[in-house]
Amino acid sequence: MSRLLYIFFIALLSPAQANDLERNYASANQAKPKISIVVDDLGDNSIIAKQITELPVNLTMAILPKTPHAQKISNWAHQNGHEVIMHLPMEASSRPDLLGPGAIFSDMSQDQITDIILENARSIPHLVGINNHMGSLLTKDVEKMTWVMSLAKSQNWYFLDSKTSEESIAQDIALKNGLPNLGRDIFLDHHSESQKGELPKIIKLRMNRALSIAQREGHVVVICHPYAETLAFFEKHLAALEEQYEFVRASDLLSSDSYQIASKKQVPQSGNFNR
Ligand SMILES: [Zn+2]
Repeated sequence: MSRLLYIFFIALLSPAQANDLERNYASANQAKPKISIVVDDLGDNSIIAKQITELPVNLTMAILPKTPHAQKISNWAHQNGHEVIMHLPMEASSRPDLLGPGAIFSDMSQDQITDIILENARSIPHLVGINNHMGSLLTKDVEKMTWVMSLAKSQNWYFLDSKTSEESIAQDIALKNGLPNLGRDIFLDHHSESQKGELPKIIKLRMNRALSIAQREGHVVVICHPYAETLAFFEKHLAALEEQYEFVRASDLLSSDSYQIASKKQVPQSGNFNR
């Protein structure tokens, strides 16, 4: 039953009946493994971003600060019930040319990092969390991560570690600072130039891997990108997958019991690409 139809029905019932139904509805949804899809690298292309915001399930849109369409995409995402987070560019061990505006670097002071992040936030309305864009260098830097997490805490943001490097300690630092946090399980569509033609096949394989993690752990965090192949896959398969899985915003996992318990275990790594 759609949520809207459900709300209509519940309005017709007595309070006791409504309570029963609410419990059943909640437990039926709890029984489904949860999938959180996070779309990274948004902001430069508004056409595909608009199509993504029109997908029929809950998504988390990770928007690059100060990009030409950041504001517009955040507003569309919010209007369509998706969650908005800042995709914060962090220094990597290679390719500084891919960082884009609003990046933070290891030679910056705490004040500089704070100012940059707060200024970034002004280009992204509705934001409730952050995840790292690249960051293989910065996410292993205890001091810089402590500054980022304490600022995030003061703004009431959660932190999602994109885990672009096996050496990332970002989630541990978030945890130590009492910040709600989670980590990426699967990169759905990361690929090399030479694998471009194989992308539909890669997406299918990784999605299957994500589904088995969701079945086993009760939840999975999948990061993808605004590629035409990814959108085509979602348009074809998301509605059918929704029969068996519940698509949730990343922050919905933070309050989920199964996430809290399972997050103490080692989260499987997949598709690190050291940026
Ligand atoms: Zn990114």
